[in-house]
Amino acid sequence: MNKYIIILLAFTTVQITFGQESFTRQDTLRGSITPERAWWDVTYYHLDVSVDPATKSIKGKNTVQYKVLEPYKVLQIDLQAPLKITKVVQNGEILNINHDGNAHFINLKSDQKKGSIQSLDVYYEGQPQEAKRAPWDGGFSWSKDADGNDFVATSCQGLGASVWWPNKDHMYDEVDSMLISVTVPKGLMDVSNGQLRNVEEHKDGTKTYNWFVSNPINNYGVNVNIGDYVHYSEDYKGEKGLLKMDYYVLKENLEKAKTQFKDAPRMMEAFEHWFGPYPFYEDGYKLVEVPYLGMEHQSSVTYGNKFKNGYLGRDVSGSGWGMKFDFIIIHESAHEWFANNITYKDMADMWIHESFTSYSESLFVEYFYGKKAAAEYVIGVRKNILNDKPIIGPYNVNQSGSGDMYYKGSNILHTLRQWINDDVKWRGILRGLNETFYHQTVTTEQIENYISKSAGLDLTAFFNQYLRDARIPTLEYSIKNKQLKYRWIDTVPNFEMPIQVYFDGKEQWLFPKTDWSTMKINDDDLKVDVDFYVESLKL
Ligand SMILES: [Zn+2]
Repeated sequence: MNKYIIILLAFTTVQITFGQESFTRQDTLRGSITPERAWWDVTYYHLDVSVDPATKSIKGKNTVQYKVLEPYKVLQIDLQAPLKITKVVQNGEILNINHDGNAHFINLKSDQKKGSIQSLDVYYEGQPQEAKRAPWDGGFSWSKDADGNDFVATSCQGLGASVWWPNKDHMYDEVDSMLISVTVPKGLMDVSNGQLRNVEEHKDGTKTYNWFVSNPINNYGVNVNIGDYVHYSEDYKGEKGLLKMDYYVLKENLEKAKTQFKDAPRMMEAFEHWFGPYPFYEDGYKLVEVPYLGMEHQSSVTYGNKFKNGYLGRDVSGSGWGMKFDFIIIHESAHEWFANNITYKDMADMWIHESFTSYSESLFVEYFYGKKAAAEYVIGVRKNILNDKPIIGPYNVNQSGSGDMYYKGSNILHTLRQWINDDVKWRGILRGLNETFYHQTVTTEQIENYISKSAGLDLTAFFNQYLRDARIPTLEYSIKNKQLKYRWIDTVPNFEMPIQVYFDGKEQWLFPKTDWSTMKINDDDLKVDVDFYVESLKL
């Protein structure tokens, strides 16, 4: 998702909250791999839930199937108030639960043999939290379409899926596959993730939509979208064969969608080129209209960008290129590669999702409009960078770092590409990441090491500088008596990124260190290549 707007609107509040960096026991229970989580590996969920828009309430159960890694007797399930767990059943027995805020510790009775597959049913109900500013807070959005029909959707990035269904709400452990059964009132349909298996019709007029996800899925990617949808589809000939692309929109928007959603196959073409095959052919690709801006829900990307190009009709780059595409279709779909295919283990490393995805916007521009246009786009988004604090956040408390993970993030990658200075290798790295970490949850170290190794460069100081320090490296220099003196300042130790500068009639590489270097120069000034996200200071 894109946090650009909230940063502009709510920066003061965000800064105060982040500035304190104080965390509670609840943050630790939510954000760390507790002993009650570590001993089991979730293998399968069957979420079976009825949604009643009239009372804004839900009721159902989640069957949690897991493999025992180490025998243990207490299992943590997360569910956020005001929803309540009504009972937990394993092997026909009702189990005792110790509640600790949103974490629920289930005391198991039966033997949990190492290597065995176990299962329990978690029953729950209530009125879930309502999303007030979806997708930035999360919960249920209860809305209506133009005909007065209910139009309902969930979103829960950050806050977590436990805001609306009971699960192991930590990103490190993705379920291998999942059945999502959603019962909706008469006249409405549900669109969730994966493929629609079947629809059950009940005597009272309600219907149950059974959606099956055959690939690992992160918790916040699971979603429910309910409305009086119309549907159309197309076949896309992609790198891995035929991909079904499905579109679900409100009746009133069908014609607009048929024009605007042409960006979806364009997106697929550009991103398969840059990142490799779409990672979820078996589950298909869907674009689903929702009553909020949009979200990267795996294989059912949600859309609420008003059928306009740009970000709600605005160019976030100010370069003009941002109006050549629908920001939400491009950005949220790029997350299929960076967020859904390659997923962070800890939210502190959220740059893995957002930096690559923000960068993907410029790669889309490059694919269709050329390298110069892409550079103008990525340089244009720099005006949104705050340099307020490091991009990597604190670990084990479900907390992300600076919102700079978006636009500074894209510029970090653009800068790194200049250093690597080999477009074939660069594309190979982007595709290699998606192949190497296919359907995995990862740490930032894994990503950093992979890039260093593939580039053949030691990027330790580079990543420390740009991800773990808020300062922009500054090229400090002086020119006296035809001698150029230069060095890096405002950097971490051993920052030695080479940089392209223009002087004496040509572009050339400088190799500054944090100590002074000197060389001969005839010009009385130089110009730093604007593709590098750095500052310069002439003494
Ligand atoms: Zn995003």
